[in-house]
Amino acid sequence: MNLASILKPATLLLLLVAASHTFAQSRRWWDDTSMISNKQTLQKDGLTLFYYDNSENFDPQVKQHLIDAFFTVYPAERKRFNMQASATVVFVIDTGYHGVAATSGHIVRFNPDWFKKHPEDIDVVTHEVMHIVQSYGDNHVPGWLTEGIADYVRYKFGINNDASGWKLTDFKPTQSYTNAYRITAHFLVWAEKHKNPGLVDTLDGAMRQGIYTSELWQQLTGKNVDELWAEYSANPEI
Ligand SMILES: [Zn+2]
Repeated sequence: MNLASILKPATLLLLLVAASHTFAQSRRWWDDTSMISNKQTLQKDGLTLFYYDNSENFDPQVKQHLIDAFFTVYPAERKRFNMQASATVVFVIDTGYHGVAATSGHIVRFNPDWFKKHPEDIDVVTHEVMHIVQSYGDNHVPGWLTEGIADYVRYKFGINNDASGWKLTDFKPTQSYTNAYRITAHFLVWAEKHKNPGLVDTLDGAMRQGIYTSELWQQLTGKNVDELWAEYSANPEI
């Protein structure tokens, strides 16, 4: 037996161990759906929602509200912004996730603890599924604008914002348009009202096509974004 024939099986084994280790790390519990006891597939109007839950006692009423919100707001968001957005979406109620919710590709993860404390916060769905509609992928777009648009959409399309106590953040001089979320959303609502009613649609489309630049603000509103923010700051009513 020469050295090569001894080494080969050992090397192969090592490679297999290394490969399965990487595989195990990148897999999520919902990847093997046969192992999920609490799951459901819902279909309506050409859309499919897969629902997976690894929590013990998620409130069935909250579950129903999240599903109803999806089938209400997602078609509306797709229709306005991007009909190419995925017709298949996955909701994962995940005890291993400790934020509020997060979206990656067409998968939205929800923290069940959050909804135990905030059962009315159903429009988390409205914000998160907008990220699926946005589909900016690897385009280098500003994160503050991505999140600002998602909260602009929650403001426009939300179905339970009042009951959950959610509203756009009132203007304060310490803010910046780069603060994202409700602060940027308030600015976008103002800019559409006073400058260009198609502003968000055009910004969103440009970001998805990968042709967004900061000069777009000048073209669409007659001012660059800093000048526009200055004008907004002087009279921020919407
Ligand atoms: Zn977001």
